[in-house]
Order: sequence, then C-alpha cells, then structure tokens
Amino acid sequence: MSSSNHSPSAAEEFNQWAKRADGAQVTAAWLEGLSALRGLMCVRLREDVEENFGLDSLQLPTSPLETERRLELEIAIYQAAVSALFARERKQLTGDAAWLAEWLARLQDPTALSEPAGRDRLSHYLRVTRQEQRHLFSGAIGRIMPAANRAPLVLFRLFPAAVRIITATALGDARGAEELRTQQRNILPAIEDCAQCHAAVLPNGHVCTLCSNPLWGYRFLTAAD
Ligand SMILES: [Zn+2]
Repeated sequence: MSSSNHSPSAAEEFNQWAKRADGAQVTAAWLEGLSALRGLMCVRLREDVEENFGLDSLQLPTSPLETERRLELEIAIYQAAVSALFARERKQLTGDAAWLAEWLARLQDPTALSEPAGRDRLSHYLRVTRQEQRHLFSGAIGRIMPAANRAPLVLFRLFPAAVRIITATALGDARGAEELRTQQRNILPAIEDCAQCHAAVLPNGHVCTLCSNPLWGYRFLTAAD
C-alpha cells in the first residue's frame, strides 16, 4: 500500500482540529488502514460471493463499474462514521465527531460528500446505535448488490471491529487494538488457526497472505469452531 497519495492539507487540517503535531503520520496510517480494509470488504462481498455461488448469483442491478463505485462509497462512509465515533469514545481525540467523520470520509474519497446523499448517509450513521449502524450498512450493501445477502453474517460483525482496530492503531493505542482483536477472536475463534499471523494485530495497510487478516477470507469466515 502506498502512503504517498494523501493530501498534505488533510494532515494540516487534522493537526489544527486535534491540536496535535503528528498529523502526517496519523493521516498516512489511518488512510492506509482504511483503504486496505475497504478493498478487502469489496473482495469479500463481490468475488467471494461470485466464487462460491457463481457469476449469475451476482444479479447486479447496475453495471459492474457502477456497482463497484457505489460499494466503495458506502463502505468509505460507514468506515468514516465507525472510526470517528470510536476515536471519540476512547477519548483519544476530543472535538466534534461529525467533523472527524467528514474528514475521514474525504480522506478516503475526496468526492465522498460531494452529493447530498453521501452527507445524509454519514449523518444518519452518526446518529444511531452500533447495532442500527450495522443493519443500515448491511441493508445498503444488499440494495447495491443483492447477492451480498449471501455473504456470511459474521463478516458484518467482524468488519466494524476491524475499522476500530485500524483507528486504534493509527492513533497509537496498541492496547485498544488488542482488546478489539480479542473480541474478534471470541466472535470467530477460527482466526487463530492461521499458521502465518496467528490473528496478530498487523500494521495498518498490511494484509496476511494466508488468512487475509484484517478481514478474513471466506474459508475462515465459514469455519466451524
Ligand atoms: Zn493470517
């Protein structure tokens, strides 16, 4: 993953808002982590379903490119909301969660909030409980790509925790990241079976080539305990 494609002004904006001096480092780590995770989520939703249920099961309501764009946008907005709320809950950052969520959405995709619909989605995610966020997100994904309803449900439980781990890691909260990984182990014990990473928390942007940690592959998602 490259860390060179973030705008320097995003880091400056962050420094001003957070009254910190490490914006460049935090911004790069945050962006690397969220970008890698978004890519993995797209693969889980699209390629895994296609591979396991056949191409016909994708039943795309629009062109594949348009579907991909809408998937990426929805994931970016959900990630921005989950990440911003977690950073505030852990009290690692003070200030307005809505500002942080908007900054995170634009960091991932400069055009994410250029349509009113994107802003509405983001503010809706910020107003509801974690469980409602999850339902909103899986509902939106299912409307964009109906076959995503076949993805293992555990994926939608592991995903927000993965967003929070990336957030904790970007902000230097290693203990917080480990606590969240323990929660994921409890949700899906099979993740420990990876002979390569043993479910360790990886640096942001890194992906285990065997199990796909930080968002596990289909074989792990469907493993029995
Ligand atoms: Zn692994």
